[in-house]
Amino acid sequence: MIVSTPHFERMILMSHNDCIRKSIDLKDKNITFDHLFCEELVIKGRKSKVYHAKLSYQPEECKECKKENTKHSIVKNGFMLSKIKWISHTRYPTYLFLRKQRFLCRQCGASFLAESLEFEKHCFIARRVKQSVLFELTDATSFKDIAKRHAISSTTVIRTMRQAGNERRNQFKTLPETLCFDEFTSTKNKKGKYSFIYSNASSHKIIDILIDNFSRTIRDHFLRYPLKERLKVKAIVVDMNAGYFKRVKELFPNASVVIDRFHLVQLINRALNVTRIKTMNTYRTASPAAAKDYRKLKRYWKLFLKESNDLDYQTYHYHRLFKKVITETEIMDYLLSLNNS
Ligand SMILES: [Zn+2]
Repeated sequence: MIVSTPHFERMILMSHNDCIRKSIDLKDKNITFDHLFCEELVIKGRKSKVYHAKLSYQPEECKECKKENTKHSIVKNGFMLSKIKWISHTRYPTYLFLRKQRFLCRQCGASFLAESLEFEKHCFIARRVKQSVLFELTDATSFKDIAKRHAISSTTVIRTMRQAGNERRNQFKTLPETLCFDEFTSTKNKKGKYSFIYSNASSHKIIDILIDNFSRTIRDHFLRYPLKERLKVKAIVVDMNAGYFKRVKELFPNASVVIDRFHLVQLINRALNVTRIKTMNTYRTASPAAAKDYRKLKRYWKLFLKESNDLDYQTYHYHRLFKKVITETEIMDYLLSLNNS
């Protein structure tokens, strides 16, 4: 009697090919493996794992004349072997020896090769290797280390990085409805002290970074976007830097300026401190009683910055300056009464 378990059933449904695909993290179902699918070979002086497979399918149209494949107008016409660098498994350099189907179009006489999303056309390094390289580039690792781990050359690592950089380069095509402007100190720039950075205010994705925060640089940069895109911007979140305000209306006619909450809180705190110090100083040179109030204003500066609802009105503590047990709210009431102006 055969005992059927869920695992057993899954094993039957999953073919030999599915299993191998899963084990080496390959998604394309048009790639099928040979009966003897894996062997160890010495490649470039190193023991390597080699997977043998073929890539074939029924093409929908001809790559050359774009005519639809009907009534066997495109026929299979042999294979071409490609040796593709795959992601290293069990620390061995790993290769996919792939026989790519060659097709012949009877309508135009052109021949073309089967393609797969696993690698770019004419490229012998799988996308997965490139993705892994890019992933590791975000760590503080040397090119040499990454190259070694992926069994590729340092030059390939650098080329992969440059290529990715070009793909992600700002195309100046679209702008989001809300932008966030900010600046940061950058050691790279010698001209200005700050670099300018702007991001999508809702997704927080950085859109671009400018070398300095000069009005001219910012203006020239945003003018590269078509007016239609700039009109789409509804709000711009900025810090307190006055330089931006003038530019915003000119570059983004429909946008309103929103002051960043963090910078606003900073501004209110500063205003509160200034008022407290001003009041404090009026008590500075007067009688001994006034001198005591001066010391109180100085001592309890933190209470002024606390939200009124957060002040403690229940716990009594002995405070030397008041010479009695008193709550935070009572201290605050007294301090505020000092400012009558
Ligand atoms: Zn054709």
